[in-house]
Amino acid sequence: MAIAQLIAGNWKMFKGPAQARSFVAALADATVEQAESLDIVVCPPAVSLAAAVDGAGASRTQIFGQNVHWAESGAFTGEVSGSMLRELGVSGAIVGHSERRQLFGETDETTAARMVAARGVGLQVIACVGELEAEREAGETERVLERQVGAIAEAADGLEGLVVAYEPIWAIGTGRTATLEQAQEAHAVIKRLLPVPVLYGGSVKPDNAAELLALPDVDGALVGGASLDVDSFAAVCTAGARAA
Ligand code: PEP
Repeated sequence: MAIAQLIAGNWKMFKGPAQARSFVAALADATVEQAESLDIVVCPPAVSLAAAVDGAGASRTQIFGQNVHWAESGAFTGEVSGSMLRELGVSGAIVGHSERRQLFGETDETTAARMVAARGVGLQVIACVGELEAEREAGETERVLERQVGAIAEAADGLEGLVVAYEPIWAIGTGRTATLEQAQEAHAVIKRLLPVPVLYGGSVKPDNAAELLALPDVDGALVGGASLDVDSFAAVCTAGARAA
């Protein structure tokens, strides 16, 4: 039976408005095998969201933010609210990415609060979880996932439009990926805690996407580095279409 796949590109702090606009237009022209059950998302930096929405036009690419604040408005310098994203035509947001957790003090609580606020204004959400290398080596992966996913599950009011991304931190931007066994095991744990689609993230590339996406509990990929180039991102999307 075909299952839906979601391929999301996280551009991090790359691509200003002009590059974002031309990327999404080129992606619409790139050869991505058609599959009804494939969703494609790109997550540009905040300043490039409007250009990306405009460039995507009526194509199948949806535009998500990389973060969203829990308040509607207020004295929160540097933050952006869900309704502001909606006003731009943005369809969803990432919350709790490991770079936010590690570099900017994001916690399970703030991640959950961001998720609740985003869903409250009708945005879809990709909530990121994943263990440090030391935690995996100490045999604590399941405990860490239970804590992180538990915070999301407890706060979530319904599951519609909610996706979790399993991103082992030691695999992000390192060229290392979880083994197929490690990925499948972690995804199964997450789905037991929260029955929503679960994306794998951590050095997904055209040459490893197919085998990861074929795993029974992998419903797509969150792609960093390989999403910055149209051809490599289109190749990962094609792998998603074939797995769907
Ligand atoms: C990410 O930023 O979410 C990510 C998975 O990055 P990369 O694919 O580069 O490891």
